[in-house]
Amino acid sequence: STFTYTFDTQLYKGKSTFNTGLFINGEFVDPVVDAKIEVINPSTGKVITSVSAGSDKDVDIAVKAAKQAYKTSWGLKVPGSVRGRMLSKLADLIEKNADEFAALEALNVGKPFGTARMADVASTIDTIRYYAGWADKIQGKTIETNEKKLSYTRHEPYGVVGQIVPWNYPLSMISWKVSPALATGNVIVLKPSELTPLTALRLAGLCNEAGFPPGVINIVNGYGHTVGQAISEHPVIKKIAFTGSTATGRKIQIASANSNLKAVTLELGGKSPNIIFDDADIEQAVKWTTRGIFFNMGQNCNAGSRIFVQEGIYDKFLPMFTHAARSLQSATGDPFHPSTKHGPQVSQTQFDRVMDYIDSAKTDGANIHVGGLRHGSEGYFIQPTIVTECTADMKIVKEEVFGPVAAVIKFKSEEEVIEMANNTVYGLSSAVFTENSSRAIRVAHALEAGQAFVNSFNSVEKNMPFGGYKQSGNGRELGEYAIDMYTQVKAVHINV
Ligand code: NAD
Repeated sequence: STFTYTFDTQLYKGKSTFNTGLFINGEFVDPVVDAKIEVINPSTGKVITSVSAGSDKDVDIAVKAAKQAYKTSWGLKVPGSVRGRMLSKLADLIEKNADEFAALEALNVGKPFGTARMADVASTIDTIRYYAGWADKIQGKTIETNEKKLSYTRHEPYGVVGQIVPWNYPLSMISWKVSPALATGNVIVLKPSELTPLTALRLAGLCNEAGFPPGVINIVNGYGHTVGQAISEHPVIKKIAFTGSTATGRKIQIASANSNLKAVTLELGGKSPNIIFDDADIEQAVKWTTRGIFFNMGQNCNAGSRIFVQEGIYDKFLPMFTHAARSLQSATGDPFHPSTKHGPQVSQTQFDRVMDYIDSAKTDGANIHVGGLRHGSEGYFIQPTIVTECTADMKIVKEEVFGPVAAVIKFKSEEEVIEMANNTVYGLSSAVFTENSSRAIRVAHALEAGQAFVNSFNSVEKNMPFGGYKQSGNGRELGEYAIDMYTQVKAVHINV
């Protein structure tokens, strides 16, 4: 069935129309077993529409279509330049409809419209174009062995890959996964989050126009325990890429191991340390720390949620950071209002989860320095919150909150803070603020994390790898590293 929505807001006026079925083999179809999922607007808590919910049967049909496409009309049969052209066309089509994509993301996720347009949609277009450029540059090596032999490597696609994406960056996470997979010649069965399927469905509607043969991209909407589980267990899928919680990542790895030992890339949760030394440029530290924790309402896998502040700067930093949180609080509201900078949490479940963490902080003896309350009376808005007087054993310091809640911890020495920062099961991101370049490099190298930012936070680049240490995942997305993740290397030995 078709979904039509008219946006009549100050920031965007326009109509959005697309099919809400499953996108399999180049067309929208109904699930084998009829089922629907309601899609909620987190700013109001009201239903926007219903979309089809697939099951393992639909995953199987999608995998068969993908396998057939791989055999007949994709993979290394199609020159890289042609695959790249299709990706470029897809990027152009998204760009042509960029405001509509941003509006859908604002409606479904609650992101401020301007942020969705400038961050999510813009980076999606950029990422797809970046990998379009890679498609004809997938190269092996000739390796000298002995003169009676020609030895070289080929970087070959896996074939059918499974991809499962979360709700915090629904569109841009699709671009991180789909673009390198297609550039390297794989075919895809992708599941969006059941909470945020709208931009995925809108994108599905552009795949044929971009020129992708039927079956190359399949989008099967549905729940994790049905569609997600079926993708993880499917014996024909050779590789799976997942972004989401560590708990789900563990289940996917187990299902992959128990079925056919799929190659698995996991991008999971975090509890990233953000360290501010006495000699930091305080204005910069406050600006980036605020973004680091509160951007996207704190629903960021690499959010800087543990803020370590050295004792000499603490009394200056805290009031400035508090002021920044309060300003954000006064810019909280309707994602389509021009002055909004902070929207709702994505769902009732996430709202409850974050409020429970705030309660736990109080019970454990921390101080809710600012925020801590629901904002407004409808939707899932939570005030930007700063918690002080935290200690290492508190839940608010140990566990991923995935909301706008910063835990602030005072420290004395470099040695002590490195130990505290690394005292976590996670290892996604980290940041250090100091004007001492030797210390910056020393600390960045000592932190156990896939990303180390110096005097910034969250400035992810499409051509730099992104991924986690420890229980924050394995494998890397973005950059040349993602090309490796979607290819398997064959060593060819020829006697001459
Ligand atoms: P989740 O990990 O359960 O959901 C992410 C995706 O995984 C969704 O598409 C979901 O349908 C799918 N999924 C769920 N169970 C599955 C299964 N058994 N097999 C295969 N796929 C499955 O996350 P959530 O429950 O929506 O959120 C809970 C917490 O996860 C958050 O509070 C946050 O801590 C974390 N999270 C992290 C990220 C990230 O970017 N790293 C993104 C979303 C959520």
